[in-house]
Amino acid sequence: MIHEQTIRLEAACSGIGLHSGAPVNMRILPAAAGTGIVFRRTDLDGFQIEANSRNVAKVSYATSLMKKGVLISTTEHLLSACVGVGLDNAIVELDNLELPLLDGSAQPFVDMILNAGLRKQRRPRTYYRIRRDLELHEGDKFIGVYPGPGYSVSYAIDFPHPLIGKEVFEVELKNMGLIRGASMDNVIVLTEDSVLNGPLRFQDEFVRHKVLDLIGDLALLGRRIIGRVVANRAGHAMHTAIVSRLLKDPSLWEETTDEHLPTPLSATELRATL
Ligand SMILES: [Zn+2]
Repeated sequence: MIHEQTIRLEAACSGIGLHSGAPVNMRILPAAAGTGIVFRRTDLDGFQIEANSRNVAKVSYATSLMKKGVLISTTEHLLSACVGVGLDNAIVELDNLELPLLDGSAQPFVDMILNAGLRKQRRPRTYYRIRRDLELHEGDKFIGVYPGPGYSVSYAIDFPHPLIGKEVFEVELKNMGLIRGASMDNVIVLTEDSVLNGPLRFQDEFVRHKVLDLIGDLALLGRRIIGRVVANRAGHAMHTAIVSRLLKDPSLWEETTDEHLPTPLSATELRATL
């Protein structure tokens, strides 16, 4: 049985929102077991927005949460980092509407959480174990969730750009997870036929970033999945659509504290996999 975890010490960073350009200070604070990830707007009297599917706002280029007209924008990289490091419960304070972009990946969030440390809590972590297939199609876009051991995500993209084209990337999240692999990417600015701010760190950097975004969006379930997720050219809207479909139909999954996760990989194995 795996227990829920919170952050041991508070962690802070500052940056600029990608889409709003707004400067923002962010703090991650410990929270009680069962809290989940809760955002708090310190510039709006501490108004709180829970990171769950009920609060998902219009979604296009990034995932935003909205409650009573209050917005929190671009949550996916931080939420992906939380899943990756195993942070279940935290208050995330922001003094503006968008999370800081930092280097465009989840890596700075992973580092700040791991530097602050994690504290194991009494409550066992609950999972949604997928029991039946669920597939969503939208034109040539696709996302599906299937029963399976552990938590694996496979993403395929086919983008009309000479540097991208067809790419497939698959990760399996085992306890600590391979999020570091999925997260070591950046915001990539494309021109007609090259990368403006390249070089790419990985040949498959684009699809790795899609995996990162998908894991962050699936975190809006409020529970980790035990199952297999397959996506093909999907985006934030389809990621969050499958989350709400899953929550609407409890016959698709069962709640369990029996994670059936294989032994976590060692750091050496982790690097070899990447
Ligand atoms: Zn992203």
